[in-house]
Amino acid sequence: MDYFPVFVKLKEQDCLVIGAGEVAARKIELLARAGAKITVIAKEISTAVSDMQEIYNLTLLQKRFSPEDMRKFRLVISATNNAETNRLVAETAGEHNIPVNVVDNPELCSFIFPAIIDRSPIIAAVSSGGAAPVLARLLRAKIESVIPPAYGRLAHLAEKFRATVKQHIKQPAQRRIFWENILQGSAAELVFSGKEKEAEQQLEKTLRNETASYGEVYLVGAGPGSPDLLTFRALRLMQQADVVVYDRLVSPEIIDLARRDSEKIYVGKQRQNHALPQECINTLLADLAKAGKRVVRLKGGDPFIFGRGGEEIETLMQQGINFQVVPGITAASGCAAYAGIPLTHRDHAQSCTFVTGHLKDNSINLNWSQLAAPNQTIVIYMGLIGLEKICQSLIEHGSPKDLPIALVQQGTTTTQRVVTGTLESLPHKVASQNIKAPTLIIIGTVVTLHNKLNWFHTT
Ligand code: SAH
Repeated sequence: MDYFPVFVKLKEQDCLVIGAGEVAARKIELLARAGAKITVIAKEISTAVSDMQEIYNLTLLQKRFSPEDMRKFRLVISATNNAETNRLVAETAGEHNIPVNVVDNPELCSFIFPAIIDRSPIIAAVSSGGAAPVLARLLRAKIESVIPPAYGRLAHLAEKFRATVKQHIKQPAQRRIFWENILQGSAAELVFSGKEKEAEQQLEKTLRNETASYGEVYLVGAGPGSPDLLTFRALRLMQQADVVVYDRLVSPEIIDLARRDSEKIYVGKQRQNHALPQECINTLLADLAKAGKRVVRLKGGDPFIFGRGGEEIETLMQQGINFQVVPGITAASGCAAYAGIPLTHRDHAQSCTFVTGHLKDNSINLNWSQLAAPNQTIVIYMGLIGLEKICQSLIEHGSPKDLPIALVQQGTTTTQRVVTGTLESLPHKVASQNIKAPTLIIIGTVVTLHNKLNWFHTT
């Protein structure tokens, strides 16, 4: 270990920063976050630093640094672009045994700054010992992505109940299990979704052994296909769930990201061929939760956009089961982005409507005259079978025959394909090709931008 990591208490401690440019400003900001009393010595003071004076109560001394300036500081940082000054600061601090950091000059440093993940009071720091700062920052980004922003609040909850729990559970091993359950279970999820009061109640109930052993359900949007379009929250919940209930739109690559030993239940949903009727899915989710399981209900795209998510949580609500809804990138946003077709555009469309093209009794019941109006984009989900009818109805209600239209097959995935045409030509074009579900239809003059903005090329 070339460097020893420690966390230094700087609250109300005198710290010195030499230099007052942009780099110094960043360091001042950091020290201020830790509550330090900061003195700044610099010949020239940038507006970035002078603007901070009042906010952080800085002592600003506009002068050249001299060794007599060194007092009993807790830390010293030199952030000037003058090599001589930097060296003098490092030597003087060294003589006084004060830890010193000279920015971008590891040789003169007695301590270095790590990349910081701040979920106060939880703080993680990553360092490469100066060998590869970019690598340290990349690692930080990885850690940032797996620690929920509210992790700090979870720590406060634990702190608040620490003594009480100690009183109630005398055995350290049992206490550890209790905390592991709380910090990974529904109480933690309540904190992450901003319900601190409910989290406290949950903790207290668990402590009194009163909790019904109900699990909970997370209704999670899995996005349009590509696994890295999942949200951080979706991934975290998938990795802790006991059961994953999913349907056809969720790709195997995404299922692979769920906890290895979780039970995976396929509930189908193909056109006309529902593997499990919706009512049974609703009951299944409730039953699993009642059996104490944490259930992720994974749905393609967003659960509240043509996803019947509303019906599923209604049953849960009726039965008093805790649940969360996690939004996902809906097919319209995913396909539009990956096909280079902006859904709105100053020159083309001032609004965008999502509709379902699902055929019922061989007809599609939509407000055609509204949809045929100009300067808008129409996105049609589940529209492949009804494509010809859709185009016909729009033309009958006044849309130009040459209105551009695109069909996006398996958007955002490596098998994405975009077929463009006009209301008149696309149905024939599509009929002669082997199109694979799922497909999304985008109608409007924004489709002309596809040729110019198409950036995603599949092999
Ligand atoms: N809740 C989902 C939509 C479910 S309805 C969402 O928010 O995206 C199913 C329809 O979504 C499909 O018939 C298709 O029209 C569309 N769809 C979903 N994923 C798609 C994809 N990757 N590419 C094209 N269309 C997609």
